[in-house]
Order: sequence, then structure tokens, then C-alpha cells
Amino acid sequence: MKSLKERLAQGDILISDGAMGTFLQARGLQPGECPEEWCVSHPEVVKEIHDAYLAAGSDILETNSFGGTSYKLKPYGLADKVRELNLAAVGLARQVIAGKGYIAAAVGPTGRIVEEEGGDASPNELYGAFKEQVTALAEGGADALCIETMGSLAEALQAVRAAKDSTALPVMCTFTFQAGARGFRTMMGVTPERAAREAAAAGADIIGTNCGSGIANMIEIARQMRAAQPHTPILVNANAGMPVLEEGKTVFKETPEFMASKIGELIKAGAQIIGGCCGTTPEHIGAIAKAAKATR
Ligand SMILES: [Zn+2]
Repeated sequence: MKSLKERLAQGDILISDGAMGTFLQARGLQPGECPEEWCVSHPEVVKEIHDAYLAAGSDILETNSFGGTSYKLKPYGLADKVRELNLAAVGLARQVIAGKGYIAAAVGPTGRIVEEEGGDASPNELYGAFKEQVTALAEGGADALCIETMGSLAEALQAVRAAKDSTALPVMCTFTFQAGARGFRTMMGVTPERAAREAAAAGADIIGTNCGSGIANMIEIARQMRAAQPHTPILVNANAGMPVLEEGKTVFKETPEFMASKIGELIKAGAQIIGGCCGTTPEHIGAIAKAAKATR
């Protein structure tokens, strides 16, 4: 099988998967439970989710390791389980994918704020935490690292550097933007152009955007990233719309058909890897895969 980078270099459009967190909740993950711990306590559920996305048409599966840094695991008393849980997360995806696609190991924010942005975390502390996680993910056999849902550029850059310094894997780095009066900005006020440029300069092989406020906004974000960074492949994993509270429950309202209807424009805007984030299901991924195929 060709490598992920070869597939991207030859211009293929690749389909990633959909939500993990909201899928685990639908399968019984309770508030206050650690999602990553389910890799060892409920491995069959995590594999079932991977299976469903692979069957729906995903070329890339993301591991259940989003909160797998020591900082995220600490509140659950699991800070000393970084290696074990991240190895388990990749192992489950490997059992499912079995050569039929690629594993992108998910790396999310630490939840800490760096000093230069008003918090108390030093860049070195974050670098160290990311290094510990990505080392285990690479050892487990991931095909790529997916640093995602980043709002802080300073934090994202530490993650990219740790990934490039400690592994030989292709590194994806994707940011979450909100739409505001001045255009799209991350939580820390960074534009898509700047995020794209600085992530690529730090060594990210693939840049992009995930989560966010619906697939229509992702088209403009991809366009802005493409303009800033014309030759770096772009990944877009969109939420199924903005989360809405209904009767105390968070719901996501974009249908598979609606998301699929935007895929042509998204590809034209520069997206080369496309999938879902919060609220998306195998049905969404199936519709997205079909729409992407239709553009070829
Ligand atoms: Zn999301």
C-alpha cells in the first residue's frame, strides 16, 4: 500500500472518520468518565466505532487518544498511564484497519494555558507532555499524528515540534475557529492564515481545521489556509453544525445530506482530507465519501 504522503502527493482525496467522543457517549460513556480509558476497559466498543467508520468509507481512522496527555489524564488519576493508554488506542485501530487504510493518532490540547497567553504553563512543560504522548503513539504503529482542536498557536507549535523531534511520522495540525465580526479566529485570536503559516513553518506536513461551527464555514477557512500555504495538504474535519442545547442535551443538526452537499466546494477550496468531528456519525461519513467520489 502507498503511504499517506504518497497518496496526498498524487492528489488523492482521502476520507477521514467522524466523531469519537459523542459516539462513545452514545455507547454509554458517562460524564466524569475518561474516554481514553475505554481503550482498555471497553476495547470492543472502541473497535466497533472504528469498524463502523471503516465500513462507511473512511481511508483514515483516528485513534481514541485525544485526551491522552498526562495533563488531561491527571484528573482521572491516570497521569501515569500515558504510554499504556496511547499504545492501546493505536492497537485497537490497527486491529480494525488491517492494511485497508491509515491510522492518524489523535492528540488534543492539554487544557493548560501557556505563559505568553496569560496562563501558567511553560512551553517546555507542554513540549514534554506532547513528547511523552506522541512517542507512545508512534511506538504503537500510527501512520500519522493528528494534533487537533487547537485554539492556542503557542500550544499547537509545541505539539508539532515534539512530534517532529521525537517521531518520523507525518504530522497533521488542525485548529478550531469561531466565526466573529472580524472573521474567523481561534479561541486565542489567531487567523486561519497565521495558523496555517506557523504550523507549516514548525514542520506540520498537513494543516487544517476541525470541530468548529458547521461545514459551510469550513469552506472559507480552507480557502484562507490554502491562500496562505498553497502547497501544504489541508484536512477538514467538520462538526455536524453548531452544538445546540435541547432539553438539556447537546445536539448537532447538520444531516449527512447537507454535509455531503458542501463537499464539492470544500474540495475546490483546497481540502484534500475530509471527515467529521463532533456529532458526525458513520452515516455522515458515508455521505461525505460518496460525494467526494462523485467529484473525481
Ligand atoms: Zn469536534
